[in-house]
Amino acid sequence: MTPRPPSVSEDVTALPRGGQNAIGVTLGLLGDEWTLLILRQALQGTRLYGDWMRALPISHAVLSGRLGRLTEFGLLERVAYQERPERHEYRLTRRGRGVWPILLGIWAWELSHVERHAEELPRMRHHGHLFEPVLVCGGCAAPVGPRDLVGGFGPSGTWERSLPSATTRRRSASAPGHLEGFFPQTTALVGNRWSCAMLGAAFQGARRFRDFERQLAAPPVVIADRLRTFAELDVMTASANGGYRLTAKGLAFFPVAVHTMEWAQRWFRSPEGPALSYRHTACGAPFRPRHTCSECAEPLRGGTIERVGQ
Ligand SMILES: [Zn+2]
Ligand SMILES: [Zn+2]
Repeated sequence: MTPRPPSVSEDVTALPRGGQNAIGVTLGLLGDEWTLLILRQALQGTRLYGDWMRALPISHAVLSGRLGRLTEFGLLERVAYQERPERHEYRLTRRGRGVWPILLGIWAWELSHVERHAEELPRMRHHGHLFEPVLVCGGCAAPVGPRDLVGGFGPSGTWERSLPSATTRRRSASAPGHLEGFFPQTTALVGNRWSCAMLGAAFQGARRFRDFERQLAAPPVVIADRLRTFAELDVMTASANGGYRLTAKGLAFFPVAVHTMEWAQRWFRSPEGPALSYRHTACGAPFRPRHTCSECAEPLRGGTIERVGQ
């Protein structure tokens, strides 16, 4: 892991031609429960190694590995704040702070759709009122769901290039399995390369077993296994015509998916062009996801949201 100058984190990372695209790189990085938890703490102000150790049931090996990776990918910057003895802190870069819409989406989804949590999730307030984030179009401010968009893969977008690599997956899988309860179902949905792809295909309209099989070029046993998991999570269900459809809970994960795509393509670019490209059907503008407040309809910004409770 080579240290990068701080300015790199403000720039877009150029990805190699023909290699993994922005989506694949991002899913490999963020599709990991420890990484999400470390970023959540960072967004709440944690900068010191010891503070993460105290806040999370995490081992030294996992924490230093994840901090190194987040620094390598430009989300954190390692800065010396004391010389004798030398001490470092990890500061969120603009790229790192930019993950807040993804984490807000995960929080909202877990809060309204996942009943059991090992730790009580805090509620959040916007300008003093409790709220839920609403996904809207950045162009026309209308609320948006998966069926309100047209588009799909761009020039660097194939399933193969959009999946986290097997290497990343092995690295991510080193997280201990006892971490039940922080973002348990989010991890089940995105912490596995085939799950991400299945969910992406479902949001793109795949409905039948053979759609998934053909689009993902995945072994049938994998598709069957993922469909079973999604049914257990109540994210997809068998439909009357012999296919599968997203449930209300599955559809409610859409804001997390589009904010992840947005962040991915904001910071990582393949030379061929975007991995995914969507327009909002109603207004025709290229789709830019935004969160607004369910209560006052104002756009949400990181700094206007406060946590209630722990
Ligand atoms: Zn629009
Ligand atoms: Zn509000």
